[in-house]
Amino acid sequence: MTVSCTGNGMYRNYRYFAMDTVVTICLPADMDEKQASAAADRCSRILSDIEMHLSSKNENGGVYILNHSEEHFSADDVIAEITAKSESIRVLTDGAFDYTLSPLIELWNVTGGGPVPAQSDISDALSRTGADKVRAGENGVELYDGAGLDFGGIGKGYAAVLITEELKSSGIPYGMVSVGGNISVWGEKPDGTEYKIGIKDPENTDSVIGYVYLDAGFVSVSGDYERFFEENGKRYHHIIDGSTGYPAESGLHSAAVISSDGTEADALSTALFVMGEEKALEFYRLGKADFEAVLVADDGRIIMTDGIKDKFEFYEGAVN
Ligand code: AMP
Ligand code: MG
Repeated sequence: MTVSCTGNGMYRNYRYFAMDTVVTICLPADMDEKQASAAADRCSRILSDIEMHLSSKNENGGVYILNHSEEHFSADDVIAEITAKSESIRVLTDGAFDYTLSPLIELWNVTGGGPVPAQSDISDALSRTGADKVRAGENGVELYDGAGLDFGGIGKGYAAVLITEELKSSGIPYGMVSVGGNISVWGEKPDGTEYKIGIKDPENTDSVIGYVYLDAGFVSVSGDYERFFEENGKRYHHIIDGSTGYPAESGLHSAAVISSDGTEADALSTALFVMGEEKALEFYRLGKADFEAVLVADDGRIIMTDGIKDKFEFYEGAVN
């Protein structure tokens, strides 16, 4: 997904690296420069704070400590909140979204470039996953039997929500935020047009397959092109199917979710990617969560849910 804060000089843009990804904040161009940069600074601090709670890679991260300490216990309130939200989405998606896959994610080490693990190590890591090894109560979160948590599939959406709330409550009338491709837009732009959000072409990430038009809300995309390594000509990406222990091979290249709940948009995009076209559409039809989706299949087909069809514009020249 791309976020371009172009719009004929409508925005003042801030860009930085946080939560292991690129963050872009687009604020109204006519805002006082000092106020805008102070607001962007506050967002940067919010991101650092979330990272300190939720990082499973940084040794000082709350989740890292929870996963690796002797006690395997955390009383951190952000971890408790995200665990509760993640558990409800795990149940909702029948385990397609699974925040307990940390043993597999560490084993695959996709961001570190692999290699493909031995089947015996995958089986061992699989045996340490599962929500039955997590106890989350009023006092905190506790892990058992070698379990570990990973909020890589939900944390950036959560961050996009908190930043948006901060900017809105500071009275900033409109804007756009992207936390590693988890996009948020709010407020009416001076030209009265809707926000135009590009969905990347998984086959050519410099281009887009089309655009989603939104007046407010969140868009998150999960794709096999985001983080991966290649071995013997095969691509191994970062989204794991907890039922196999391998990177999901569901027939999808990417799944975009549009929702008014940014945390859910992030988690559901990961879940739909794991589900694949058929299960994702079935999940949509069940109506257990309020969202729309744009899927790109491995064969290039673009599949949309009913509620987004008239808000989607194909990129000229895109094949469909
Ligand atoms: P996203 O890019 O939002 O789809 O998130 C992918 C990240 O979520 C990965 O880098 C992992 O940290 C984590 N993850 C991988 N597989 C899953 C899964 N099936 N459910 C939840 N989180 C996952
Ligand atoms: Mg996600």
